Amino acid sequence: MAEFAHIIIDISHEKVDRPFQYRIPEPLKGQIYAGCQVDVPFGKGNQIRKGYVVGLSNQASYDPEKLKEIVGIHAGSISAESQLIQVAWWMKERYGSTMNQALKTVLPVKQKVKQKEKRWICCLLDPEERKAQAAEAIKKKYKARERLFEAFLEMDRIPYEMAQQLNITAAVLKPLIERGMIQVEALADYRNPAAGFLKPQSKASSLVTLNTEQQAVVSDICTEYDSGIRKTYLIHGITGSGKTEIYMELIEHVRNQGKEAILLIPEISLTYQTVMRFCRRFGNKVSFINSKLSAGERYDQFEQAKKGEIQIMIGPRSALFTPFQNLGLIIIDEEHEAAYKSEITPRYHARETAQYRAGLCSASVVLGSATPSVETYTKALHGIYGYYKINRRAKKNSMLPKVWVVDMRKELREGNRSIFSRCLQDLMKEKLEKQEQAILFLNRRGYSSFLSCRNCGEAIKCHHCDVTLTLHQDDRLVCHYCGYQIRRPRLCPVCSSPYLAPFGAGTQKVEAMVQEAFPLARVLRMDYDTTSKKGGHQAILSAFANHEADILVGTQMIVKGHDFPAVTLVGILAADVSLYAPDYRCGERTFQLLTQAAGRAGRDERRGHVVIQTYSPEHYCVETAATQNYEQFYQKEMEYRKLLSYPPACALMALMVSSSNEGVTQNAMEAAFRIAGSFGRRITQGAGICGSEPVKMIGPVNAAIYKLNDMYRKILYMKCENYDILIKIRNHTEEELKQQGFSGQASILFDFM
Ligand code: ADP
Ligand code: ZN
Ligand code: ZN
Repeated sequence: MAEFAHIIIDISHEKVDRPFQYRIPEPLKGQIYAGCQVDVPFGKGNQIRKGYVVGLSNQASYDPEKLKEIVGIHAGSISAESQLIQVAWWMKERYGSTMNQALKTVLPVKQKVKQKEKRWICCLLDPEERKAQAAEAIKKKYKARERLFEAFLEMDRIPYEMAQQLNITAAVLKPLIERGMIQVEALADYRNPAAGFLKPQSKASSLVTLNTEQQAVVSDICTEYDSGIRKTYLIHGITGSGKTEIYMELIEHVRNQGKEAILLIPEISLTYQTVMRFCRRFGNKVSFINSKLSAGERYDQFEQAKKGEIQIMIGPRSALFTPFQNLGLIIIDEEHEAAYKSEITPRYHARETAQYRAGLCSASVVLGSATPSVETYTKALHGIYGYYKINRRAKKNSMLPKVWVVDMRKELREGNRSIFSRCLQDLMKEKLEKQEQAILFLNRRGYSSFLSCRNCGEAIKCHHCDVTLTLHQDDRLVCHYCGYQIRRPRLCPVCSSPYLAPFGAGTQKVEAMVQEAFPLARVLRMDYDTTSKKGGHQAILSAFANHEADILVGTQMIVKGHDFPAVTLVGILAADVSLYAPDYRCGERTFQLLTQAAGRAGRDERRGHVVIQTYSPEHYCVETAATQNYEQFYQKEMEYRKLLSYPPACALMALMVSSSNEGVTQNAMEAAFRIAGSFGRRITQGAGICGSEPVKMIGPVNAAIYKLNDMYRKILYMKCENYDILIKIRNHTEEELKQQGFSGQASILFDFM
């Protein structure tokens, strides 16, 4: 039992990395935990202050006689901070980090924010005049002006940045200012983006009545909620099935009981459209954060939540740590998104962390996706999560698209060397004639990093693992999972064809080729280059939504978020690219991308068409995406995961060692391999936890990018059916490496994959 506790006094003022040590008095031993609120004497006058326990130990950091003693456990309700510190503790244990790193992740850093002047566009017209202006703009086809006045039907002022998102330029505003219809005002610091809204819409006047499928899900979850059941639910609904409407109803339900809600959405879906939908419904009770906010701005938003000024927080991963006092519901939209896992320590997954936080404050968790992650669906299948499936689009007359799969090997054999199949070319021509829009999607993950045969479609794979070999600059092909390597072959090992080439063409090239084939078409390109400017992303999307272009060419970025009603054709140029990325999840990611790309086509009455071009039409990921058959995809994918012991069939942990000195990396990895290996054998073979579950070690190998920022990196993978065994191995290995002095020389990082 711990003798001493590390305590931080008054979270908002003290630095969290400067805890004070206190002695735990005899009667309190065993009752003190991380996050626990305690009363302690503080400062020269020994005034009694409230503190939070952030750590426990058996050793005093200096003379134990001089340490002050905890007075008692603080009476009164458990604060949000207390819960968040518990979350931090859990994250540290679960994902491996220092308590300090974990605390910095969950507690917002207080920082002075410069009193920013924020500019607003204010409307000076009365409601009737606004309606008239909107109508006139529609008639004259002034798209930007139409959007502006539509916004003014609901709010008196909009933040200047929002206008930019709406693609309303200064040139649009100028004549309106001159005619005295609007004015631009600077108001001091008023950060909530929803603050300009007039009033939330009452339910009666809301435009949408839930359909029977939506209503069934809502009633079911609400009934369970009201009878005190708290659990995790999966809403598996195709794109456009109305999940967002369901989320809003559920939020409304818990809000009526005085509870707060957090909605996590991938950053890329945080579009103006989404913001408007929620503001319309919840007015200024809702707030948004994004990763572009400064620490101070985020702190401000979180303060509003703590004071109860807002009840709904929407944002990416980090919104999970909003300090609500009565959190009742956490919703995670697009739960399969990779962005929900943190890439910095602690490497937490928002889905698991949400469930842990929900458990502390008695909240329910709702996960939503058209293509659930294999992990989540497995839990739903086993009844661990509540499960709802919606197969129909919510909007009346919105039909599912017709899908073609085109075998590009056949195109080549029949003399078509273009990157556009004949089927896609015909459809593009047809759409252009009808003045409908098309999206061409280039899946660029792993671009040019592997070799494939243009004749038989074969991608060159490792002999020992089911992953493609990665093409290195020195013309070697290397397996990033086991280290196997060969020289780059000249002929295809399967069919001996010489048409062996690095895979994939860039978006720029695609754009040029579209222009060549259809000189009159207006083409927009959206990729890393064209969006790196601030606001570039939104500008391109709005321009396309305003039908300022016929064809949009882009990477993953165009797949999510936006709703383009006039798009009736989606062409997926090379479905295979992501299929052979060196990652066990590449099949799942490909299926998700294909399914979601296909979901972009035909979102109103006009039937959409989808062309999937591929070199492996018989691959289960392509086949099942084309038929939109999730269950079949899942079944095949699980077979593969089981066969090769990948999650969720098995837990998988990576250990990465890096150092600027190649020899140090080598030595530290050898030590890690020895320590982890023998400890793994000891605890699984001995009278240990679980006799029959050996730990499989794979590697060590050089990391995919061996030298990165002048650091040499090696990776070791460990697999075991029992997650806890891997955690034990991690803790032991970490400690041993520290004892043997390696931690000081090399960086040692553990990550659950
Ligand atoms: P998802 O989040 O599943 O992609 P959304 O909630 O965004 O789906 O709904 C897709 C479209 O259908 C939106 O334009 C939305 O306004 C509309 N919609 C949703 N539910 C209904 C409904 N019950 N009746 C009419 N339209 C609806
Ligand atoms: Zn071949
Ligand atoms: Zn291999």
